[in-house]
Amino acid sequence: MDLGEKLALLAASARYDASCASSGSARVSGTGGIGAAVPAGVCHSWTGDGRCVSLLKVLYSNACRNDCAYCVNRSSADIRRASFGAEELVSLTVEFYRRNYVEGLFLSSGVFSDPDIVMERLIEVARILREREGFAGYIHLKGIPGCGEALLRKAGLFADRISVNIELPTSRSLALLAPQKSGAEILGSMRLLGEAESESREDAARLRSTPRFAPAGQSTQLIVGASPEDDRCIVNLAAALYRRYGLRRVYYSAFMPVAPDPRLPSPTSPPLLREHRLYQADWLLRFYGYGADELFEGAESSFAADIDPKCSWALGHPSFFPVDACRASYAELLRVPGVGPAGARRILASRSSRSLRSEDLRKMGIALKRASWFLSLDGSPLREPAQPEVIRASLADHSPPGKATGRPAPAGQLELEFS
Ligand code: SF4
Repeated sequence: MDLGEKLALLAASARYDASCASSGSARVSGTGGIGAAVPAGVCHSWTGDGRCVSLLKVLYSNACRNDCAYCVNRSSADIRRASFGAEELVSLTVEFYRRNYVEGLFLSSGVFSDPDIVMERLIEVARILREREGFAGYIHLKGIPGCGEALLRKAGLFADRISVNIELPTSRSLALLAPQKSGAEILGSMRLLGEAESESREDAARLRSTPRFAPAGQSTQLIVGASPEDDRCIVNLAAALYRRYGLRRVYYSAFMPVAPDPRLPSPTSPPLLREHRLYQADWLLRFYGYGADELFEGAESSFAADIDPKCSWALGHPSFFPVDACRASYAELLRVPGVGPAGARRILASRSSRSLRSEDLRKMGIALKRASWFLSLDGSPLREPAQPEVIRASLADHSPPGKATGRPAPAGQLELEFS
């Protein structure tokens, strides 16, 4: 198999991994330009300082000894298998970088051998890029669960980000759909990465020349809809991962079957609206100060289809509102639908020098169509009170695609306390 074929195959095999946020790209050179088209294998991701970078996204190998039911590369799948050599990947990365196709590399792999051996191969690619090629671009490496601690620590010295995919929200679902995977190994790797990252931060505070461990932190991917867990279970797990292991991002990936399997549901379309609601809730956890338990206070354990989780919370807490924009704290302002962190900061900054009017709020980027139901100015509500159904209808969020699906009761949460 020539290198081009290998690249097409191993880029296609990698496209199901959402832990490096991806959007397809087919950049071509213009007249007089150099290089060939890249029909697959380029995705976009965000660095620790918020820059968007394009990455060559490939697997080292799509051979895998595991048989995860949801995965296109599972051992029982009848697909062409291929593996890169380290030098092939280095030369592809450097070539694409020179041609300005990519600014970095996202490298994952099937578990084609012992986890230590697979991890060593991934590290070797990153090491050659950094040490021999002087490559300073972004590198995202997959952490292979079950590999040794020393290897994960070494990976973090070459990679900007490392991700260990948890894939399923409970140990019960892992045992059913990914029987060779171990929740304890996955969480153990995450814990180790979290510890290494915080040790490196502390060392760097004492000695600035200390090499940073995976400066863009760690991320993971959760598949949504392959197993019966509800949104409450998934949000609780995500919150625990952020809190306990310092993850930077949890990515949610709407499930679509790659092959019929009696253990898997057979949706006609991926649950994109559900995925979208989970991303919205994730945002509330990370930037708005919500606790996972606050997002599901009643009997509900799945997000509403018609409104987003923040509006749901607001409608469920009428006594909290109206929030007075002239007096409220930052945390209170963040609870108002239509007010984000930047808007809340602008309100705080501007009211110290003058009194606020609703026109000022609009100019600050506050979404008054939603916020006006929940805000007051110097004790005067921005809008006349209305029945909850009327407010709910006006808050309806029609933008995301797909349909929400009902979910049965959650199975037991993955055990986060292990050694
Ligand atoms: S370990 Fe499972 S999810 Fe990962 S490549 Fe192998 S079969 Fe796919």
